[in-house]
Amino acid sequence: MDPSSFSNADKIATTNFQLDVTVDFDKSSISGTNTLTFQVLFDGVTEIVLDYQGLDISLCEVMGQDGKFNQVETDTHFDNNLGSAIKLYLTDSNQQIKLIYNLEVITGQSVVARITYATNKDSQAINWLTEEQTTTKKLKYLFTQCEPIHCRSVAPLQDTPSIKTTYSANVRVKDPYVVKMSAEETDPTKNTDGTTTYHFNQAIKIPSYLLAMAVGNIQYQKIGDRTGVISEPGENALDKYVVELKDLETLLDETEKWLTKYIWGKYTILILPASFPFGGMENPLLTFASPTIIVGDGSQVYVATHEIAHSWTGNDVTCRDWSNMWLNEGFTVFEERKVSEILHKDEPDFALLEAQLGNVDLWVDIMNYGVDNSYSSLYPQLNGHSPDDSFSELPYEKGFQFLTYLESLMKTKDDFQDFIRAYILNHQQQSITYLELKAFFESYVTTKYGAATAQGIFAKIDWDSWINKAGKNPKEWNIDFTTDSQRKFEKLADDYIDTGARPANYKDYVDTKDPQLKVIFLNRLTARQNELTSSLMSLIDSDLNCTWDKNPEIGQRWLPLAITMKYEYAYNGDDSGAHYYISWQGRMKYINPIYQQLVRYGRRDLAYKWFKQYQNFYHPLAIAGLKKIIFASATEEENLMLQRAEKAVNLGLIKL
Ligand SMILES: [Zn+2]
Repeated sequence: MDPSSFSNADKIATTNFQLDVTVDFDKSSISGTNTLTFQVLFDGVTEIVLDYQGLDISLCEVMGQDGKFNQVETDTHFDNNLGSAIKLYLTDSNQQIKLIYNLEVITGQSVVARITYATNKDSQAINWLTEEQTTTKKLKYLFTQCEPIHCRSVAPLQDTPSIKTTYSANVRVKDPYVVKMSAEETDPTKNTDGTTTYHFNQAIKIPSYLLAMAVGNIQYQKIGDRTGVISEPGENALDKYVVELKDLETLLDETEKWLTKYIWGKYTILILPASFPFGGMENPLLTFASPTIIVGDGSQVYVATHEIAHSWTGNDVTCRDWSNMWLNEGFTVFEERKVSEILHKDEPDFALLEAQLGNVDLWVDIMNYGVDNSYSSLYPQLNGHSPDDSFSELPYEKGFQFLTYLESLMKTKDDFQDFIRAYILNHQQQSITYLELKAFFESYVTTKYGAATAQGIFAKIDWDSWINKAGKNPKEWNIDFTTDSQRKFEKLADDYIDTGARPANYKDYVDTKDPQLKVIFLNRLTARQNELTSSLMSLIDSDLNCTWDKNPEIGQRWLPLAITMKYEYAYNGDDSGAHYYISWQGRMKYINPIYQQLVRYGRRDLAYKWFKQYQNFYHPLAIAGLKKIIFASATEEENLMLQRAEKAVNLGLIKL
């Protein structure tokens, strides 16, 4: 049913779960119970299988007909990539299948199970920050990141997007910590022991990966009728974020106008401490976002548009498994760019530039995987690997391109907008695969245009090539994202390289309000890096100040190029731009390329040193990725060197 989950949700499926837990910052652990309600889908099912990872499970119980919980026998299975499975036997030891604690396990029947557990240090989802790692440095902080398969390390459950459940939570924590979750909140209860219990309820069914929790010194600030921001208080955080996100209500209104009614009630963005490994995470009611989207010039606020659009595609209509992830991401990118186009009326190229840049990033990933690799397709075959391994631009940009292609086959763009609205309304609260999308598209087009016209359209669509192959460049599908402004900025880069001197119009770069054009310039430099020299890099940097640009999208391109070109000013030493860049934020998209290039270009020593300096700051997922980069490609000799260095650091012989 879902190759990334051990659960038997096809036989007995969770309909609701309730967390009753305590957050203990001294032990860095969340402990308590998860009480799950299941519906039996298959007569005589003999066990419930749950996913878990990084948890110590101490007791498993099933409720009998008398309403009392009885401990049940269990079995566990461990897997390196996907975590563990625990089986709760619904049979007694004599294998009496039909009546267990007087409970009949027949189709339609409810079963309630309660698991007592505590999270341990191996939990992949929970990031525990020390006071020093936060902005206000007053209290510790924790946040979760459950997509794709890490909810199993917050609580034992059927961790698969193929089923959707409601959930509620009672979370107890020491005062004055504040808890937020991806659910409606009711008034907290003050306890007599210096703790407070926060209460949450999510009445709309969601897949497990949308469970989210943040605990820390955090506050809410309203922006519009339905919108608000949560973060640590103060002028370096909440005050600044509220200013940059002042148009949040407009973003929500415009997205709703383009799509269908917003079903979730409120919409809040929680801006996390800078170690959050992603740009944003679309937890319902409560998007989590990296502070790297707050650049000061509003240029990264499109991430908010993206997360808002997920309220329809992803959170309401959900992919059934991680091979179909493009149904979440491709649709959301497509919608995000439609809304961006409306919001950037004065910049007619805005959405096209996004698509153009997305295509470059897409092909970098395709080249990295190899064109024949299934990860380079819209349908990665995971074969038991973690879906984190196949996480790339593919579901986003290839998905967007496929939808752009389908749109191009319709009589008008409005027809395709109508199709998307109908697709959402027809699959509300469902988990689907691309086969359902295909069937719905075909029936929609047939009804709209008649069978003959529809057949003509279907004959053009090579689904197999689009879904299962890396495929072609967009131009070969007759979709073109190029623009005049793009060509102008590529020429600026060409002029630097061809003349080796400062072009007369270099100020165009400095003066542009559109950072996408700067990225186009840098992509061109990267594409022609064989013709660059370190001294030309130095000239460009003194003209355009690339090393210290506050927009992280610039550093993401410029700094790895600087390492490749051995332009040492940008990276050599702890006062360099690259060192600052990897130290103030831990977003994987930004830090990985720096470490990768250091390793590739003979500075594994620097990569190792910086990693050791910031490994307490980065998120566990980022650490796992960096370990692969820094250690996996090492030669035997380098590995020995690293092991010796690690030993020396542990013994206190090397100070970082
Ligand atoms: Zn997304």
